[in-house]
Amino acid sequence: VLHSSNCPTSYDNLSVNVFRDTDATRRLNPTQQDISAATMVMKIRRSQNNRDIDRLCRFLNSLEVDNAPKSMKAVQKNLSRQENLNINWESYKICSKCGQTYPIKCSECTKCKEKKLVEFYLYSIENQLQHLLSTNGVYKSLQNERKKNVEIFSQTTYGQILKETDENSFTMIINADGVVTPNQNISLWPFILMINEVPIPQRRYTENIIIAGVIPAKVKPNNIVFEACLDLITEDLQLIENGQQYYISDLDATDTLHFFTIASCTDKPAEALMENVVVYNAEYGCPKCFTPGEIFHGERGLGNKIKKFHIRVFPYGDIEDRTQDKCTEIVRDMEDEKLSKPRRGHS
Ligand SMILES: [Zn+2]
Ligand SMILES: [Zn+2]
Repeated sequence: VLHSSNCPTSYDNLSVNVFRDTDATRRLNPTQQDISAATMVMKIRRSQNNRDIDRLCRFLNSLEVDNAPKSMKAVQKNLSRQENLNINWESYKICSKCGQTYPIKCSECTKCKEKKLVEFYLYSIENQLQHLLSTNGVYKSLQNERKKNVEIFSQTTYGQILKETDENSFTMIINADGVVTPNQNISLWPFILMINEVPIPQRRYTENIIIAGVIPAKVKPNNIVFEACLDLITEDLQLIENGQQYYISDLDATDTLHFFTIASCTDKPAEALMENVVVYNAEYGCPKCFTPGEIFHGERGLGNKIKKFHIRVFPYGDIEDRTQDKCTEIVRDMEDEKLSKPRRGHS
């Protein structure tokens, strides 16, 4: 639910079509859909059952809250009508074997006859950036933080990037991870972007987080699916880097801004998916060098409870460094099908 104290009139009267397909409008009062979405989030987070939600709805109605749904049934009905949600999104099915993308209605890959297709939802990043910039104060705070960071981080790559780009350029960080909920039927792999020039702690607030895409998968998606998703997201990110026109509430004008995605922050399993490499404990899993690693056989526990375990370790030694040039060469040879997959950690 997006609250803002500013009146959206000036924005509504805009004659320039900055929002393209769908308008990103900021609401002053939560709608039925907003309250239903918030209720559903609470239901999942707190593992509430449908009767709990019925009670909550009755409670809200007894307080005469505007637009409060009457029951859990009403919450579901409100959320199933997605065309009213005003979100610019596209849905795909991705073949888990060859990575081919299809419209959401397809159930089989026509290329390799694979039936295991993974759903993927892609959300407009530009739309969400416009949403942020429509709030008074956001652009000014981005500019201030940028000015501060150029000084503070002048010795870092980040500071260097800020120095080398125009003042109307900002940076983002991408993150992906699996989210497991208490409900086993719902597990999500969201791709999330954060703007580095939004000050902490606001940077991590839900309203400032940009969702680039979501894989609603019960099992962990494989490298092929992840690559297809990242390809779709990258297409969007490229446009955003090149510069898009946004209506900036603070200036009451439109201007071209650039947002560069400069880093990613993930845990080890997600990192392997993002970089399209083998997992950290597989053969050639070391990100620094080309050692295949060794299996260490150990025992833990005492007496009857002794348990054997095996773990891959990457001992130090005189081993070739994993440089960018070398990695590029391997990937190129794999693409030309000179090398079989996975090759020295690349999959
Ligand atoms: Zn396929
Ligand atoms: Zn190493």
